Amino acid sequence: MDQQENSKLLEAARCLNAVETICVKKELSKKLTSQPFSYLLVLDFEATCWSKEDDFKAPNEVIECPCVLYHVETNRIVSEFQLYVRPVENPILSEFCMKLTGIRQSQVDGGFPLDVSLMLFKKWLEEMRKRFALSYDIYSSAENKCIFATWSDWDLGVCLKRESQRKRITLPEMFTTWIDVRAIYCSHYLRKPKGLYGALQELGLEFVGREHCGLDDARNTAKLIGAMLADGVLLERTPSF
Ligand code: AMP
Ligand code: MG
Ligand code: MG
Repeated sequence: MDQQENSKLLEAARCLNAVETICVKKELSKKLTSQPFSYLLVLDFEATCWSKEDDFKAPNEVIECPCVLYHVETNRIVSEFQLYVRPVENPILSEFCMKLTGIRQSQVDGGFPLDVSLMLFKKWLEEMRKRFALSYDIYSSAENKCIFATWSDWDLGVCLKRESQRKRITLPEMFTTWIDVRAIYCSHYLRKPKGLYGALQELGLEFVGREHCGLDDARNTAKLIGAMLADGVLLERTPSF
């Protein structure tokens, strides 16, 4: 469209009182493109656990590794990954854990231990990198920068970090940085929600699927991120600790 056509259209829009709408849309897309990351790897581990009343307790081992690749600009999940992982320190799931997560003993028995599961996860990450021309280097000036995003620091900062140390598994550099969606939610809205479910509710959204199913948690975290972006939240990397 040339300059003249453009001004004619703008004039017509003014007459129709439509100029404000045009500006809002422009502003929103400007906000989205000024986000530091174009894609997010939204991850939500489920792990072995026991209830407060259980006599037995042990460190968490990942039993579900789900991740959705979320495209910021289009507010869409473009790919999904899910794997059940076999715990080896405590191979038998507690009744509490199965009830909480909905994960069955047969599902983890049929999975690979963490080291092999992480190799498969890395293979998928590499496929995504190639397919969407992603850059996992947070310091690069590449266009399609991509980083993990999790609800709280627990997934990568506590659960996987401790388990990989116990099992002497070396994690790739990209597993040491992430966006803590909960922390950003709290500082932007100045309130502490009751979990992911509560955060969605506060923004007028519904949790779809089953809470504590890792894949559903990841999908719903992506949905929450979409609403936060529309509210003008800047999704920056959480400083390492
Ligand atoms: P979430 O992402 O909220 O589904 O939780 C991740 C993991 O944290 C679960 O798979 C459990 O290992 C642990 N967890 C969550 N809620 C509880 C709870 N109420 N009691 C014990 N462990 C829990
Ligand atoms: Mg979680
Ligand atoms: Mg979960």
